[in-house]
Amino acid sequence: MTTLPLNPTDWEDLCQNLHNLLDRCVDQMRDAEDHPWQAPPDDLAKRYAIGAGGDVVARVMDQVLPHHGGNTHPKFWGWVQGSGLASDFVAGIATAAMNTNGGGRNHGINEMERAVIDWTRCKMGFGEGASGVLVAGTSQATVISLQAARVRVCPDVRASGSDVGLTVYAADGVHNATRKAVELLGLGHDQLRLVSTQNGAMDLQALQQAITADRAQGLTPLAIVGTAGSVDLGGYDDLNGLADLAAAEELWLHIDGAFGAWTRLADAPWRNLTDGIDRADSIALDFHKWMYVGYDCGLALIADEAAHRAAFAARPAYLKGTAEGLAGGDPWFCDYGIDLSRGNRALKVWCALEMFGEEAFSKAITRNCAQAAHMAEQVQSHGMEVTAPVVSNICLFTAAPDLPADQQSDLNAQIATHLQLHNATVFSTTDVNGITCLRAAITNHRTRDHHITEAIADVAKVAQLLKGSLG
Ligand SMILES: *Cc1c(COP(=O)(O)O)cnc(C)c1O
Repeated sequence: MTTLPLNPTDWEDLCQNLHNLLDRCVDQMRDAEDHPWQAPPDDLAKRYAIGAGGDVVARVMDQVLPHHGGNTHPKFWGWVQGSGLASDFVAGIATAAMNTNGGGRNHGINEMERAVIDWTRCKMGFGEGASGVLVAGTSQATVISLQAARVRVCPDVRASGSDVGLTVYAADGVHNATRKAVELLGLGHDQLRLVSTQNGAMDLQALQQAITADRAQGLTPLAIVGTAGSVDLGGYDDLNGLADLAAAEELWLHIDGAFGAWTRLADAPWRNLTDGIDRADSIALDFHKWMYVGYDCGLALIADEAAHRAAFAARPAYLKGTAEGLAGGDPWFCDYGIDLSRGNRALKVWCALEMFGEEAFSKAITRNCAQAAHMAEQVQSHGMEVTAPVVSNICLFTAAPDLPADQQSDLNAQIATHLQLHNATVFSTTDVNGITCLRAAITNHRTRDHHITEAIADVAKVAQLLKGSLG
């Protein structure tokens, strides 16, 4: 019998190879500390060029697995990246076998996605009338949330495409995802009002003034975007203050809680940073950052299901639902977002929560906050300077506060690169008051306190080494 095209010639053989691959993968995750980021070899593009064929499993082990982005390593604190969980193996393997399309119809993923959304809804304090949709990440969740806001204010906008001079308000440090969203929705980022901050939170008085000024101009304020965990500083807006103002002005309150919403699971005092988040109209958040789940998985959570559906639902004839059969099942997630075809993102969140239990996540998140504070202490003990208050899991510092600003910036940037290349340690950088600073965002369940102690000692050492080479 000839084998089908696109089927393995020998399933037994494949299975054996897969066992080997699984062993290798589990080793790599268990021994994550031995697998830091490394600069990819120069000929990688050539090795990956399509057409070589051969033993694919062996090639994946040799040529793919080593060239990861480093974020599984315990000393990875760059940008905001999750560390990945062993439960991702369970979900990944099952997902491959099932090849689930989560756009709709009558099968298990709908119930599982609802279970994941419902759990998150309860954690964020939203009522039973809320809805949600799992998406690639907070960037897409922001578009979905603001589209729901826009359709609520302008029910005709899905047909006409035009709106009425809508404006959106956010803190001046708001993540670029919000800017992209207002661009994609056709508002244009000139209509995104960047409100000044005080102590890392939006200045409520300045916000009120901006809204009043826009109304006086005949514009229509649409939404306030509050931040729970700002990308540069890990700061939080006063969410209750924003909710009061949004209620008084009848505006949609959206929260960018990409990573920071998860302090809702942490112990006090960090838990209280998100007080008031339950009063929002929508939240965008990620499981792939501070819930440590493998990429990618974010969530748009919307308090008013009717508003959510009104923005996206549409069933042409070829997607008609039925009472029975595979075309049954309701609701379909294609009615809650941009994508029709969608992968099984719910399973990896479900596996994570069921394998480790909610309490373990609370502990890990709480510990990451405490570790950022520990890092700040270490920085100071080496005579370096913390450049912004540590609010949650982000620590910003400069290695040589005694140098002029431009030299500090050069040095800090050089230190970050040096540590990535030579010390298996990943900080990223960002600017604080005009100085490029080293930045750690600790969303890593593998980090232990000694990793931080060692890393900061390394920073101090490398700073001394590189200071000599500053021109
Ligand atoms: C990462 C991040 C985003 C974007 O989320 P993605 O999941 O990368 O699309 C938005 N806001 C904040 C605060 C973030 O940290």
